[in-house]
Amino acid sequence: MIYMDNAATTKQTDRVLSEMDSVYRCLWENPSGVYKSARGASERLEIYRRKIADCLNCETSEIYFTSGGTESDNWGILNLAHNGEKVGKKHCVVSAIEHHAVLNTLKCLTNDGWKVTYVYPSHSGVISPSAVKRAIRPDTAFVCVMYANNETGAVQPVRDISKVCAEYGVPFFCDAVQAVGHLPVDFRRDGIDVMSLSAHKFHGPLGVGALIVRDGVALSSMIVGGMQENMKRAGTENLPGVAGMAIALSDSVSNMVEAAGKTVYLRDKLVWGILTAIPGTHLAGPDLNEHRLPGIANIMFDCTKNTALLARLDEIGVCASAGSACDSASVKPSHVLTAMSYSDSDAHTAIRFSLSEQNTEQEIEIVLEKLPGIVRELRGIIS
Ligand code: PLP
Repeated sequence: MIYMDNAATTKQTDRVLSEMDSVYRCLWENPSGVYKSARGASERLEIYRRKIADCLNCETSEIYFTSGGTESDNWGILNLAHNGEKVGKKHCVVSAIEHHAVLNTLKCLTNDGWKVTYVYPSHSGVISPSAVKRAIRPDTAFVCVMYANNETGAVQPVRDISKVCAEYGVPFFCDAVQAVGHLPVDFRRDGIDVMSLSAHKFHGPLGVGALIVRDGVALSSMIVGGMQENMKRAGTENLPGVAGMAIALSDSVSNMVEAAGKTVYLRDKLVWGILTAIPGTHLAGPDLNEHRLPGIANIMFDCTKNTALLARLDEIGVCASAGSACDSASVKPSHVLTAMSYSDSDAHTAIRFSLSEQNTEQEIEIVLEKLPGIVRELRGIIS
């Protein structure tokens, strides 16, 4: 198998698995217990929290463990909405290229009388801070722009957007699910108020993530019950999951430069190889030398259907996708590409290859050898 779908999920490293294994075997007690062994589990939870805080430049008191990116997005946004309502504000500014975990949460708010102003990106998928500025109104309760897009890899000007938000006193929510572990995300310096992340996007386990909430931002619970997570997120803590996330994050941060260098090299080789060998192909998103995630390349293959191309790639053992994993069963064109003013039919020709440092040059060469024939064949069927 040649795995090129790392934006959907990444493979856990051996170090992550062995840390989780040792926690499962030796620290399996409920961290809320009052006996010594349970105290060991709760102390360990705090050690992992410290490790994660150090990687993100935030306080341990600002970290709330969750079940992943979707929960963090839901909680973070609904909480800022709740804070806004308390002062009579029911409007928000949101980029049109957010993940559905964000967009569908906003849909719930609009059903509740909220007004949403969507900010559209440039043709290369980047949101402009001045467009965000123009969209802010006196009743704006929060701004929401992701750190980096999961379909195109476009990195957003987060620091400039946070400055605009600070200027207007509007809280800034940032979905950093695709960025954490891959880019030097710095919660304080980036000026983010509330941020989501998910372990399985940086070689950690599935089903664990975090919401980071700047001290001073009021936080209400979305999941109620016991007293865990400072009485804000009830439920027995997922210590093995948090263990895997902490190791995955600290390893990703310490290896970031090297991993990004290798991944960018492989990505560029794949992209140039495709663009030069296959006529009628285009890279969506920023140019390769612009600010983008190391691993993601979204390529359009004119006169093909991405569903057919993905099926043929699958037959030869290559795993890629048409966009967000959560939408892979959808026949709708990507909302990200259409927001970048691609037509629906162009969007239906797009394939997302997402690489990691675990890919090899040989894998790229195999794909480059096989893809031109597959595309020719599919174009022959369509024409
Ligand atoms: N936000 C973004 C940008 C994502 O790419 C994803 C997952 O693909 C999510 C949120 C949802 O994260 P999770 O799969 O942990 O629920």
